[in-house]
Amino acid sequence: MRDAAKYLANTYKRPELVFTHGKGCELYDHRGRAYLDFLGGIAVNALGYAHPRLVATIRREAGRATHVSNLFHNPFQGPLAKKLAKWSGMDRVFYTNSGAEAIEAALKLARARARTKYGEKKTRILALENSFHGRTFGALSLTWPIKYRQPFEPLVPGVEFVKFNDVADLESKFDDTICAIVMETIQGEGGIYPVSESFWKRARELTTQHDAALIADEIQCGLGRTGRAFAYQKLPGAPDIVVIAKPLAAGVPLGAMLATESFASVLAPGMHGTTFGGGPLACAVALEFLNIMEDEKLLANVRERGKELREGLAALAKKYNFIKEIRGEGLMVGVQLSVEGAPFVAEALKNGVLMNCTHETTLRLLPPYIVKSKDVKEFIRRLDTVFAKVQKSNLKTVDTAQAQKSEPVRETRTLAATR
Ligand SMILES: *Cc1c(COP(=O)(O)O)cnc(C)c1O
Repeated sequence: MRDAAKYLANTYKRPELVFTHGKGCELYDHRGRAYLDFLGGIAVNALGYAHPRLVATIRREAGRATHVSNLFHNPFQGPLAKKLAKWSGMDRVFYTNSGAEAIEAALKLARARARTKYGEKKTRILALENSFHGRTFGALSLTWPIKYRQPFEPLVPGVEFVKFNDVADLESKFDDTICAIVMETIQGEGGIYPVSESFWKRARELTTQHDAALIADEIQCGLGRTGRAFAYQKLPGAPDIVVIAKPLAAGVPLGAMLATESFASVLAPGMHGTTFGGGPLACAVALEFLNIMEDEKLLANVRERGKELREGLAALAKKYNFIKEIRGEGLMVGVQLSVEGAPFVAEALKNGVLMNCTHETTLRLLPPYIVKSKDVKEFIRRLDTVFAKVQKSNLKTVDTAQAQKSEPVRETRTLAATR
């Protein structure tokens, strides 16, 4: 921690502890203290820590070849792409190392296709207010909070934001100069807000009508997080391009852009590439992760444990009046507070629980897919203790609309445990 304070770039504020290892849903710090992890490395550790089959896969591939470059085939890119195509309904896959890079690939593909088919005018990109798509220049240009963007301006030109779930605003901004609309099927960083069925449907109609790309950012909500393979699978009409990353290799860095043939066919050798993306170790682990999901029937577990979690939270909401709403699906849950969330996160840490707070007032829960009923019960029990303790302190009431200045003002929602 001393070296980190002196030598690391100052981009994160961290608590005074070091996590050294984990097992299942628990993480251990340098003093050997256990923490129940309901953050999962920000939606990455879908199988928790040290899953025996992942450990075996990593050991095996570490002794073979961890990298061969994309100038050559490796044994896992093809089979993993085949499985991702089957899960998603897309036709072709491009691998990256991160979510932001997968967003970049999607943007470049949408621009290239529009230019190939229609010339230079079709370059505009729509994104949604309250969105988060990553920190590289392209992805950042689509990311809504002004504090992330402003220090780095000028960003990529041609991006406009549409009011969240506002069909009229979408229609007013859509025309033949649009090459893509990018949206998180369920906004993650933004506080767990699902895109509405009517908005998605209209976006699908308009993109089809104007031959633009409907791009679903499923980096956080995809690959089983909602209890479905992909969050968009309950919405009417499929996207043209799907972007995934976080849990794809369950803790090893790997992202991917999936696309239909109509879009992917624009790419030719040399147009896009990456040195590390899709390496044999990462792809072997991702393939094993998806096999484990099938073998251990984890989608069903996500749905069932997610229901238990929301029921437990709904019971707490009856007890604590600062809980305003519970949002989300499966194991992607947001607890909306009327007060600042940071003191709850800090107190939870003291009580051996990891969770996080996004947009000042939303507690965000993203536990591993392998979480058990007893873990959910224990989490709710400890959260009850945390709420009771923090309630006694002087809580700062946050006017969400004011605090989020550049964020959309939302109508007041009634307390409801959704799904
Ligand atoms: C995390 C995230 C990203 C960025 O992924 P990185 O791997 O951090 O680059 C993009 N979109 C969504 C929805 C995310 O949750």
